[in-house]
Amino acid sequence: MTARVVVVGSTNLDLVVTTAQLPRPGETVLGERFRTVPGGKGANQAVAAARAGAACEFVGAVGSDEFAGLLRESLIAAGVGVRGLRTVPGPSGVALIAVDRDAENFIVVAPGANAALTELDADDRAAIAAADVLLLQLEVPLSTVVAAAGCARAAGTTVVLNAAPAATLPDELLDLVDVLVVNEHEAEVVAGGALDALLKLVPRAVLTLGARGAAYADRDGLRLSVPAPRIDAVDTTAAGDAFTGALAVGWAERGGADIEASLRWACAAGAACAQRPGASSALPDRATIDALHDATYRGTP
Ligand code: ADP
Repeated sequence: MTARVVVVGSTNLDLVVTTAQLPRPGETVLGERFRTVPGGKGANQAVAAARAGAACEFVGAVGSDEFAGLLRESLIAAGVGVRGLRTVPGPSGVALIAVDRDAENFIVVAPGANAALTELDADDRAAIAAADVLLLQLEVPLSTVVAAAGCARAAGTTVVLNAAPAATLPDELLDLVDVLVVNEHEAEVVAGGALDALLKLVPRAVLTLGARGAAYADRDGLRLSVPAPRIDAVDTTAAGDAFTGALAVGWAERGGADIEASLRWACAAGAACAQRPGASSALPDRATIDALHDATYRGTP
């Protein structure tokens, strides 16, 4: 069964300069290489889901500037449906990123068009209702995240929320979440703890643990811990997006059954992303995820 995943979320163009030294406030430094990288957690997770094999639709907004075409094209190139991608007047979302040789960085995000994603239209609602999984993050207005989740709940579509960037969540959203996905920092901000604290807020929680893999708990008493593949990590940027996109696909394909299998597959996707340099360009395709999955977990009961 092909998984049907809808993402309602952000798309940004990352403007990245590498530099020997990061500037201090008021200082100007001469940088080295400059590149543009399509990003935003929403778009990254949509690309991750499509590469992992889903029929994926993206609902989001780009601006009326010269960056919009790049953002739209990168989604289309990954096979993501863009019927729900609107163009709004003004700038697209951008992230200004400076990275030094130790991979230390400065990042400033200007949400631009992402802040204008305030309404869902009838086609967006129909897409959410027809999907197996709705995948959400916190880089578009909270009212839109809540509206999308409400639409999914009414239609029986599973709501997966990646609470990134970390924020405390209102009850009106928590009540609509089926599966919450967070890293350790996000868990601390969202719930002030780990899995036990998360389960006070939502019925099912996934905690990503970097090189240590991922853990899962639900209110039915199921607890799982999955080790990550052992790899040489080159660049862990977007590993969380690869994990979350693949988890949504695995969850949809199994109808929420065999959660351990979905977690292993998601861990393989996160690790495969960490094996390659780059962010969205490092999101793995299905064959790559399968190969690392099989090499890691074959023979595991
Ligand atoms: P985030 O990028 O959101 O902080 P994590 O660092 O927890 O998220 O990474 C997400 C997932 O990617 C992990 O659960 C794991 O499966 C995989 N991953 C990340 N870093 C590594 C690593 N160094 N080795 C193996 N797998 C990794």
